[in-house]
Amino acid sequence: MNALSSISDRELRERLTAAVSAERMAAADVIYHLLELDRRQLYLQDACSSLFAYCVERLGYSEDGATKRMRVARISQRFPQILDELASGAIHLTGLFLLSGHLTEENVDRLLAEARGKSKRQLEELLARWYPKPDVAATITPSVPEPAQAELSTMSGAGNSGLPPAPPVPAARARVEPLSATSFRVEFTASAALRDKLEHARNLLSHAVPSGDLAALIERAIDELIAVETKRRSGAGKPRKHRETRAGSRHVPVEVQRAVRERDEDQCTFVDAEGRRCSEKRFLTIEHIDPYALGGPTTVENCCLLCSAHNAYQARQVFGGEHVARKVEEARASREQSGVLAEHAAHAESAEPAAPPECDAFQKVCYALVHMGFKATQAKRALDELRRRGVEPRPEPLLRAAITVLTP
Ligand SMILES: [Zn+2]
Repeated sequence: MNALSSISDRELRERLTAAVSAERMAAADVIYHLLELDRRQLYLQDACSSLFAYCVERLGYSEDGATKRMRVARISQRFPQILDELASGAIHLTGLFLLSGHLTEENVDRLLAEARGKSKRQLEELLARWYPKPDVAATITPSVPEPAQAELSTMSGAGNSGLPPAPPVPAARARVEPLSATSFRVEFTASAALRDKLEHARNLLSHAVPSGDLAALIERAIDELIAVETKRRSGAGKPRKHRETRAGSRHVPVEVQRAVRERDEDQCTFVDAEGRRCSEKRFLTIEHIDPYALGGPTTVENCCLLCSAHNAYQARQVFGGEHVARKVEEARASREQSGVLAEHAAHAESAEPAAPPECDAFQKVCYALVHMGFKATQAKRALDELRRRGVEPRPEPLLRAAITVLTP
């Protein structure tokens, strides 16, 4: 900074302008790179369960910063021109984030043109003009479900612009805001049914919680819920008949589940090349390390907790993700069954195709193929062909071979 104290006012302005310009270019470049990283799902390799986790944990962005960049990156896939707006400084990142929920093919050009050079507040006013919302009442009242933006536009005659409707904006999310070291403000929207239940619980517990304090009431309820759920998962307290696990069954006995959850501390166990562990604690499933479909046993040593993202990632590693993905993509292009197919393919790629127990490798692979979007008759014909060729009846080679037959 001392170096700057000796330069002229004019030079200082010029340097600052250049730095801001470079910052804008870099901001657009960051979005551009994030998009490609997202497409490759590279965050999975780096022990993050999502792009958001990657932005926060690996890139050091704040949660808000991560959310804005992710949203802008994903909308820029549909409307690449918004990166030019960002790079040129015509619309700032926050502005693009605000616009992102409203952009459609029909309105993008006009909306971007009007948004250029506007501050955040001006943009909020612009959007309020284009997509007016009902007035907010001055008191706290039961929340009325907000009509989708499309309905609002229609109701208000689409404002003064005759604009096409904007896509619906997702419902408000719950908010947890720290107030002090020991207290938080928790805010969420309750349904009428939940409001009634709260009232009912308050009455039932009027002796235990005489103040009727909602936080105290909810803490009791949550304590009970945690206890019940922990018990259910661990199978504690239930006198159980010891069931022998059938050979070939993919059922994970509760003793194994409990031991695995305890050992893995209810957190995804994926570790990247640098030894960083995935921090995900939600959407966890117990998975076989040596895949069940390939003969891995259901033991504590061979099971671990994985988040859904890393479960799918590991599955792609086992079944040859690139190969499977490429073949699935080709099949999709040829049949133009987007959407549903991708979902089925993801399901089928899951390390252990959810085949019914006791079915042989051919049946398992047939099941997986159908979930990838192939017709059952096509899958059967391909597998018959492979039987004739004498392909090894194990799921992995069979699946690879079947896909090759189906997508020559
Ligand atoms: Zn994970």
